Amino acid sequence: MPDFSRPEGPKIVSIANQKGGVGKTTTAINLAAALVEEGMRVLVVDLDPQGNASTGLGIALDDREFTTYELLLEDIDLHDVILKTQTDGLMIVPATVDLSSADLELLTNEKRSFLLHDALRQTQMDEFDLDFILIDCPPSLNLLTVNAMIASHSVLIPLQSEFFALEGLSQLMLTIREVRQSGNKDLRIEGVVLTMYDRRNNLSQQVEQDARDNLGDLVFKTMIPRNVRVSEAPSFAIPVLSYDSASKGAVAYRALAREVIQNNNIREPEVADVG
Ligand code: ADP
Ligand code: MG
Repeated sequence: MPDFSRPEGPKIVSIANQKGGVGKTTTAINLAAALVEEGMRVLVVDLDPQGNASTGLGIALDDREFTTYELLLEDIDLHDVILKTQTDGLMIVPATVDLSSADLELLTNEKRSFLLHDALRQTQMDEFDLDFILIDCPPSLNLLTVNAMIASHSVLIPLQSEFFALEGLSQLMLTIREVRQSGNKDLRIEGVVLTMYDRRNNLSQQVEQDARDNLGDLVFKTMIPRNVRVSEAPSFAIPVLSYDSASKGAVAYRALAREVIQNNNIREPEVADVG
């Protein structure tokens, strides 16, 4: 296990891409589970009103009394909003459709872009002894996603291995640049991960080539294969690592976790002091 002493608090990573269906939520859930297997304590923040990460991690709608909405907009005890999942060491702040109105409500708040940043840096947070916080962003570059990026040390971008994959990436990069200028100057790009990769498919290979040509080292070596076990796991409300530990999807997410941990080891300490 790598040396992972972290006096500066958890590493916070936004999982973002304004396109829907590219594997953000799947990556949030399974990267989190894989980091936990590496001995980390991980919190997933569900920032999508669809609440797919919450469902995928087994949080029933009835159990979502306090959610990301309250975390952002109400003064709430973290113990009430951070829930345990079936996986030891893996926690979640769930979301419900309530969050869909937050984007508008944030507009009139003078701290509108910094609410998540501030919420995740309450001193009470220390008690949870987290190593990572992964934020599952909505499929949009709205104020919720900006909150995520302002709160984060880095952005991890899932890219679906299909036609038009790189389209829209420049807009995402622009948003990252704007966030750097408006309060989080040290925001990094954790990396771009190709998802739903099918190595027998020429199109997947073409997308990979394009991504590596254009983005170079930003692209993770690990690619997540298209794997039916990955798509089945959410209906059992557990990560694929628990559902089918030996599946290709589980193996790939473990490899991705190790790459992320390696990245983390080269992070300069001052990056933690954002805002
Ligand atoms: P997003 O959060 O970006 O909208 P999801 O993670 O919800 O995307 O994934 C979209 C759909 O693709 C889901 O039905 C999910 O189960 C499926 N999916 C994601 N990754 C894989 C994969 N590696 N193999 C097979 N299906 C996948
Ligand atoms: Mg999603």
